Amino acid sequence: MIIETFPVGPLQCNCTILGDEEAAEAIVIDPGDEVGRIQRRLTELGLKLKQILVTHAHIDHVGGALRLKRLTGAPILLNENDLPLLKMMEMQAGWIGIPTPETAPPDESLADGLVVGLDRYPAQVVYTPGHTQGSVCLHFAALKLLVAGDTLFAGSIGRTDLPGGNSEQIIDSIQTRLLALPDETKVLTGHGPSTTIGTERKSNPFLRSI
Ligand SMILES: [Zn+2]
Repeated sequence: MIIETFPVGPLQCNCTILGDEEAAEAIVIDPGDEVGRIQRRLTELGLKLKQILVTHAHIDHVGGALRLKRLTGAPILLNENDLPLLKMMEMQAGWIGIPTPETAPPDESLADGLVVGLDRYPAQVVYTPGHTQGSVCLHFAALKLLVAGDTLFAGSIGRTDLPGGNSEQIIDSIQTRLLALPDETKVLTGHGPSTTIGTERKSNPFLRSI
């Protein structure tokens, strides 16, 4: 199995390629930017892209999705509650001063409980609104791995001051959905270093009052 996470774009969003060498297939999570680099890496690894999964519709996570779809033919999956944010792409580009990327509605909604990913490495969608109304995490139970988008960070949580953000909701999402996972679950975060559920349960200052 191949798991490669690398930061892309001016906001250094962590993009992840998860591949199955035997099946020669891959998924890409959060191709926010640097689509040429992502596609080159898929080619180098000899992997055909099966799905483009987007944890939420902030520009730094979704900005390259449509270009990657056009290059590879892979469908885009994104929770439908982030459609309003997807339509605000010009405003989002203005926040960080970059050209507005072209976007399109997803091919399928990442609904809670939906099983996505590769046949041998499936993930279940965990709906975790709060950072945005359509934020999801992807739980690869067999791999003891969670891809958390901007919901949970090492020692922090996602900001809730942007449109669609809700601070009580993000705490509730983390408490009821993410802290329900086993301590040993590795967490790939949307920005910065990875962590584990156990580490965050113990020491994340935003979750201490729980
Ligand atoms: Zn975000």
